[in-house]
Amino acid sequence: MERTYIKDIEPEKEITISGWIERIRNPKSMIFIVLRDITGVVQVTIDKSTQPEITEKLSNVIANSVITLRGVAHLSEYVKMGGIEFIPSDVTIDSVAEALPITKEASLDQRLNYRWIDLRDNAKNLIFRVNTTLEKGLRDYMIETGAIEIHTPKITVQSSEGGSEVFKLDYFGQPAYLTQSPQLYKQMAMASGFDKVFEIGDYFRAESSFTNRHATEFIGFDFEISHITSHHDIMDYLEGALRRALSDVKQKHEKELQEVYNVTIDIPECDFPRIPFDEALSIVEKEYGYKGSKEDFDPESEKYICQYVKEKYNSDFVYITEYPFEARAFYSMKCEDNPRLCKSFDLLWKGIEITSGAQREHRYDVLKAQIAEKGINPEVMNDYLEFFKYGCPTHGGVGLGIARMLAKLLNLPTIKEAVYIFRGPNRITP
Ligand code: ATP
Repeated sequence: MERTYIKDIEPEKEITISGWIERIRNPKSMIFIVLRDITGVVQVTIDKSTQPEITEKLSNVIANSVITLRGVAHLSEYVKMGGIEFIPSDVTIDSVAEALPITKEASLDQRLNYRWIDLRDNAKNLIFRVNTTLEKGLRDYMIETGAIEIHTPKITVQSSEGGSEVFKLDYFGQPAYLTQSPQLYKQMAMASGFDKVFEIGDYFRAESSFTNRHATEFIGFDFEISHITSHHDIMDYLEGALRRALSDVKQKHEKELQEVYNVTIDIPECDFPRIPFDEALSIVEKEYGYKGSKEDFDPESEKYICQYVKEKYNSDFVYITEYPFEARAFYSMKCEDNPRLCKSFDLLWKGIEITSGAQREHRYDVLKAQIAEKGINPEVMNDYLEFFKYGCPTHGGVGLGIARMLAKLLNLPTIKEAVYIFRGPNRITP
């Protein structure tokens, strides 16, 4: 059976349409239905006196039921919805809905309990249509610039980021972990001579965070590139990818994003500003009187520095560069001129961190020393260290949280709204 999408309806042609009943009115002599599919809405009109069979079939049907209609659309100046009215000659009831357990006004928690119903409107599926374009833009950029797409294992015997925030599992009697990032295996690809790799994958963090930007399972976009001269090469590459993905989103969804979420996508004309960590701390203190931690950039400092950069450079993006080695992972390469700092960076967007990156230490002996300096048991890192023993180019890369970026892009209050199904310390269903 040939199905026509509502957006493609042409008048005076016999067609079949399928969709959800958004509204149904059943006054004396007529039935009026607003039918929705993924592409739009159309009014369906049934004259009870001439269509007793259809009237009978629809007698128990309420909003949210799913139906398929055969019939013809006519132009009608009385109908608001696109000036088209669909007159069915036959109806199939695909699914009769019960009254919904939640309303649009329900609490976020309730809506997440019934996520499939919560997602059932255009504003919600727009989030995932934008997500699709965003990921495609990133992927296209990577492929067009010669990167190889990889899929690293999600079950590992070592924790990639160190620390205790790992989910442990029983792997046939042997302890194993769900991977926190593709870090170690991306680096392995550099040692394999892949030159540039990327991955869009699922990662797991057993952190008991109840913030608007943390999930226990999230989708990350990662890349790693070889033969770099410094972390600035990585920032350049990321900037190219983000410009490409954002302009794709802008081109495809600009009008709808404006209408539904009242957002515009601003891609800075200038290069994304790069401010060294120490300097960023001083700016925040001098300009806003806020004294952040000397070891790391806290969320409050992130907000202030973004505000500063927006005012000074009209950019929503800012790179904070050269963090103290103490605040970063053991694999970050230290700065030659100041070993307190390392060649790492975060990318902040509209007030929050969306990406972390660094040039990695690729020299076996130095890496081994850094593992010891961080107090990590070298035994645990033996397999990883092997990657650097048999020749490995200079390299580095980034990890970007897709949901964090999407939430900012759409101005959503929390990443819970930006992921298809949220996983947090208190939520493992649906
Ligand atoms: P944060 O300091 O915000 O907890 P992080 O420094 O632990 O983040 P990284 O390990 O550097 O994050 O991960 C790179 C990116 O992955 C982050 O910038 C973020 O966009 C995303 N990310 C990390 N942890 C989470 C999480 N728990 N939920 C959602 N996204 C995350």
